[in-house]
Amino acid sequence: MRTRIVFLLVLALAAFQVSCRRQDAPGSKGRPVVVLLGLDGADWSLIDPLIAQGRLPLFKEMKETAAWGALRTITPAKSPVVWTTIATGKTRQKHGIDDFRRSKPNSKGKYPIVSSLDIREPLLWEMLEGRGRRSVLVNWYVSFPPQPFSGMNVSDYFADSVISRSPDREKHLLQSVFPPERAAGLVKGLDSDYRRALKRTGLPDYPALAEEIGDAGRLADLPVLHEIPDMVRREEVVTETAARLFRTEKFDLFAAYYKLPDEVQHIAYIALLEESFRRTMDLAARGGALPDDMAEKAHARIADVVCPVYQNLERILRGYFEAAGGRETYFIIVSDHGFSFFVRDGRVRYNHIGQEKAPDGILIVRGPGVKPGKIKLARVYDIAPTVLYLLGLPLDRGMDGKPLHRLFTFKRESGYVAYRKGKMKAQGDNSEAEERKLQELKALGYIN
Ligand SMILES: [Zn+2]
Repeated sequence: MRTRIVFLLVLALAAFQVSCRRQDAPGSKGRPVVVLLGLDGADWSLIDPLIAQGRLPLFKEMKETAAWGALRTITPAKSPVVWTTIATGKTRQKHGIDDFRRSKPNSKGKYPIVSSLDIREPLLWEMLEGRGRRSVLVNWYVSFPPQPFSGMNVSDYFADSVISRSPDREKHLLQSVFPPERAAGLVKGLDSDYRRALKRTGLPDYPALAEEIGDAGRLADLPVLHEIPDMVRREEVVTETAARLFRTEKFDLFAAYYKLPDEVQHIAYIALLEESFRRTMDLAARGGALPDDMAEKAHARIADVVCPVYQNLERILRGYFEAAGGRETYFIIVSDHGFSFFVRDGRVRYNHIGQEKAPDGILIVRGPGVKPGKIKLARVYDIAPTVLYLLGLPLDRGMDGKPLHRLFTFKRESGYVAYRKGKMKAQGDNSEAEERKLQELKALGYIN
């Protein structure tokens, strides 16, 4: 009798160990992982004409084999607001990121740009930490100073520190990554040379292209053009860093953010199309709105000039898909808004801020058990709950969205809990990077 009890105890212990081991190995069989990829400003109205021309085979394949659709966003679609909503599942009133800058001045009377210290609600990676799960974060919007959680946080100041020529570069690099001791290893072997980046990515030299097309005098007034080389260099740092970490780190959630589509789309209409084309558009919009057929024509022109940016995104996505291997991996690919035409002061504009209703972003969900086809209604609030749902974790009670269960052939149980905000780590000082961010936001026309 006693031997039997001992035998049963041994069996129970073995089973317990197996289940523990499973807990310890993110991405092991039976435990799905989620990869959340943010493509700022990506828009179906640009992707679709390029698919039709056979220039984006991977997006075409995703539309045939994955769930895809529009992602309804917040108006006005300010990127830090929307990306924080995507990562919390909550409204801007709740999470506290309401704009590019803080609404209250600091002791020097300045309005600093928002930082991770302003976020009042738990982010996905903080929720995961409380459940013993590991996250890897690369370049997420409003992630500086990098807050500690189980995993790695390569903040949105990292790429800027890599390309910086500041005498404080080393210090800034350490401050831009959690845990800081990983910074040195991350920088090793990174190549951020502009010309070589163009070669690798297949991107054209957009400032030179603008000079060719436009009249040089007017273009000199467009500060954003001078920022483009650094934007490309930073994107390459992010791309390479994320690709390496994706291959080498263990994680339950991997999240990376890419900014270049938004940045190039900001200059596409004003600097990369001929003046005569814009005049034709202004004339067509005399009635106060751009007629649909003209808008379609203009979208096709813009799609043509931004095509290399989307082809580069395909290169990035293909890298992820190939490296995912046999793991049960769910890819959630999102943009925070699209871009659309509207008329103000008698001129046609192409932007994502300024309209009555912000243009929708994109959403693609790919993985085992995902029903292919068009997604009917999805909102930026639904992304964080869907990530938790796929990971088999309870939802946060205060979330404003719901998991998109209808996209999957399976149904998972998910209760509710009240997740707590992680303990925040004080601000590292990188006023140089903050100053450059301010310049960039000004160049893009976001702030005055
Ligand atoms: Zn954006």
